[in-house]
Amino acid sequence: MTGAPLAQAVAANLAAVRARIAAAAARAGRAPEGVRLVAVSKTFGPDHVRAAAAAGQRDFGENRVQEALPKMAACADLALDWHLIGHLQSNKARKSVGPFTCLQSIDSLDLLRRLDAVAVELGRDVPVLVQVDLAGEATKFGAPPDEARAMLDEAPRLARVRVGGLMLLPPLFEDVERVRPYFQRLRGFRDEQLARGVPPVHLAELSMGMSHDFEVAVEEGATMVRVGTAVFGTRDLPH
Ligand SMILES: *Cc1c(COP(=O)(O)O)cnc(C)c1O
Repeated sequence: MTGAPLAQAVAANLAAVRARIAAAAARAGRAPEGVRLVAVSKTFGPDHVRAAAAAGQRDFGENRVQEALPKMAACADLALDWHLIGHLQSNKARKSVGPFTCLQSIDSLDLLRRLDAVAVELGRDVPVLVQVDLAGEATKFGAPPDEARAMLDEAPRLARVRVGGLMLLPPLFEDVERVRPYFQRLRGFRDEQLARGVPPVHLAELSMGMSHDFEVAVEEGATMVRVGTAVFGTRDLPH
């Protein structure tokens, strides 16, 4: 799909997703403005990003630095916000500082420190989220709770990296009610960190929820949802 049909389809999908976010927020007694929609454009090209941007979408998510950089360059005139949501290899840290508005998938103390060193060198602030693994063996990436706590302890000491909250990629279940406990656990983890004195500025965001479960995530307190398929359609490539 290209041209006007693409623009119409993406605009209609975005409107539907925004309406569902607003309804879920209302069910939870939350303001819809408290939930940011990150449109996950991985595997889709600049045409799809432009179609979404034309419909008012500003935040985009990509999971591979290599794939994202040329796409960002092709859309540089649009002044969009780009979020890295896939695993960041340490050797790509330098390339990702600057182009991305937020690195959501930081999952080790080593990587956090390495990013801070790069950011100091480049003289740039780097907003990040700590990706937490609350499922143990079931997910490939994310910091186990102890590591995540160590990263949050480090947060106030970092010079240029701004830890702004938590990100979760739960195991995939068809039944969203089986995912809900993971969202509740991330919120619980956040509350536990606040209770032990981590400054609230480091825990403001909860990035959780994807196409099939974002409404449940919003009900459970998500401040950012990362939605690909429901905005752009089914991906041809596995990602
Ligand atoms: C692909 C991806 C998403 C979006 O997935 P959909 O099911 O297409 O909405 C969200 N978060 C991460 C980390 C992803 O890799």
